[in-house]
Amino acid sequence: MNMEILELLNLSKTFDGKSFALKDCSFSVSPGNILAIVGESGSGKSTILRLIAGLERPTQGIIRIKGKEVSNDGHILPPQQRNVGMVFQDFALFPHLTVAQNVGYGLKKDKAEKVNDLLQLIKMEEYANRFPGELSGGQEQRVALARTLAMNPDILLLDEPFSNLDAGLKAGLRQEIRQIVKEIGMTMVFITHDLLDALDIADELIFLKAGEILLHRPIEMIFKDVQNSEVEQTFRDLKSASQRILEMMRQK
Ligand code: ADP
Ligand code: MG
Repeated sequence: MNMEILELLNLSKTFDGKSFALKDCSFSVSPGNILAIVGESGSGKSTILRLIAGLERPTQGIIRIKGKEVSNDGHILPPQQRNVGMVFQDFALFPHLTVAQNVGYGLKKDKAEKVNDLLQLIKMEEYANRFPGELSGGQEQRVALARTLAMNPDILLLDEPFSNLDAGLKAGLRQEIRQIVKEIGMTMVFITHDLLDALDIADELIFLKAGEILLHRPIEMIFKDVQNSEVEQTFRDLKSASQRILEMMRQK
């Protein structure tokens, strides 16, 4: 019996039949773990998430969720049957609905009770009757997270969750999201171009470059014996990008 929540086996994706957006990617995530996938723009991060969610069809390879094959050569399970929750970078809250209505949007039974529990989890009980336009970017992101968690997904997928936020908000929100996800034992995969985001929030990290996995390690092992020069270069690029953001924050 396999205990991994998510498994990718030799997954590849080409859009044009020539170049590969994703090439022979294999990894797995254990229950309750937070995996960050880090890479520059165009490295294939969103493609991985969209393949896991079922929004894209792989060219080759297998995806398993809770041991069940949701995607292989002969069979593709549609997104709504995968029990995967996805939060996008632009929140996509309904502006004309209150916070509570947004969180409960997809719920049918025990709505009030579940919405209450979720608002408590994201520490926004007092904002139940506010509208998205009255919230900060970080609060909006937490509401979007709660709305997705309401559907009780097996895995949570976050696509660049912090990229639209003020740098000052990011550090706090990273910790809040980590805390929320850990509190309920949720498994999460999130993608970012910012190494700082990844180091702060994740348990393990994958470096992606031009559609290929360069390195997959627990966070505490990231800085140990980095010998692969590709990794070293990517690491330097990302670090200097992160450094620039930090400097911008200090100048505020
Ligand atoms: P990232 O999220 O890391 O910025 P993407 O996964 O969006 O990278 O893109 C990886 C590569 O695949 C890029 O070269 C991109 O142009 C290409 N790509 C992504 N989606 C499509 C699509 N729908 N049609 C054609 N090419 C695509
Ligand atoms: Mg992307």
